[in-house]
Amino acid sequence: MTADVTYAPDRIGYRYGVADDNYSKGYHRGQDVREKGPRGGSVVTQVDAIDDGVVVYVGRPNSLLEATVVIDTGRAEGRFESHSHMADVCVSVRDRVTSGQRLGRNAGMDERPGFIDGPHDHVTITDRLDGAWMTWVGEYDPLPFMQAAYARATAPASPSPNPLEDDTMLMLKINSPSGPHLCSLSTGVFRHFIPEDPTDKIMRLSRIQDDWQDVELSELPALLRTYGCDLAIWDLQGDKFVVLDPLDGSVKSGNMWSAANAARAGVAQVKVTSEQTRAYLAKLTKS
Ligand SMILES: [Zn+2]
Repeated sequence: MTADVTYAPDRIGYRYGVADDNYSKGYHRGQDVREKGPRGGSVVTQVDAIDDGVVVYVGRPNSLLEATVVIDTGRAEGRFESHSHMADVCVSVRDRVTSGQRLGRNAGMDERPGFIDGPHDHVTITDRLDGAWMTWVGEYDPLPFMQAAYARATAPASPSPNPLEDDTMLMLKINSPSGPHLCSLSTGVFRHFIPEDPTDKIMRLSRIQDDWQDVELSELPALLRTYGCDLAIWDLQGDKFVVLDPLDGSVKSGNMWSAANAARAGVAQVKVTSEQTRAYLAKLTKS
C-alpha cells in the first residue's frame, strides 16, 4: 500500500542543509517536495499537510517564499510546519487539518517557480510560527517528520481485536436440505449463526444485507480451506446444518471455530452424522 501524499519518498527533492550561497544562511533551510515530469523538470503537484494540526498562518511572508501556509502541529519539538511557493491555497487560518490533507498546490511552470527547483513544496519545520522566514531562528530537518508521517500513513491497519469486524469477512448463505444457514467466514474463523442469535447482531456483522453469498453445502470444505479454517467441523444433524465445536462435538453458535481449537480436541472425537462430513474428516486426518 502506498499513501498518495506529496511527501512520499520518491518525491523528496532538494535536501535540507545543502550548502548554497543563494540563501542568506548559506544553506537550504527547508526540504523540497516535488514530482519529476517526463522531461526531468518538476511538474505541478498538490501540497499536503505532513502532520495533524491547526492552520495558523496563510500569507506571503516575502517574495522568496511566496504564498505560505503554516500549521501548528503541537509537537514538543518542531511545532510549526510551513509550506511555501504555493499557487492556490485551499485552507484558512483556524482550519483543523489532518496528515495528508490537501492544503493547495505548487506554483505551476508558467507561474513564478520556487527559487531553486521549479515548482515544489518548500517545507520548513521550526519552533516558531514565523520560523520559516525569520532566518535567525533555528530549524529542523523536515525529512524525518515526513518519513514518520509516511510510515504512519502506509502502516498496515492493526488487526481488529474482534475478528468479526474484519473487512475481509464473507457472509455466507449456505444452502442445505433444511434450508439456508447464515455463516460468516474470515481468515481462520468460521461462525455459524443459529436462530437464537439476535437478528440485529447478525445484520450488524454483515453491514450490507445484499452481501450474503449463496453457497452450496458441498462447496463449504473448499471455502473453509481457502480461509485457513481447515479443521472447522460442519455437519448435518437431524436434517439440520450445524457447526460442531471441535472441543467436544457439541452444536454451538456464537463461537469461533479455529484450526487451533480443533487441533487441541482432535477431530476424531467429534461425532458426525452425515456421510459428507465423515468423508471430509477422513480426508483431513489422512493428510
Ligand atoms: Zn526549498
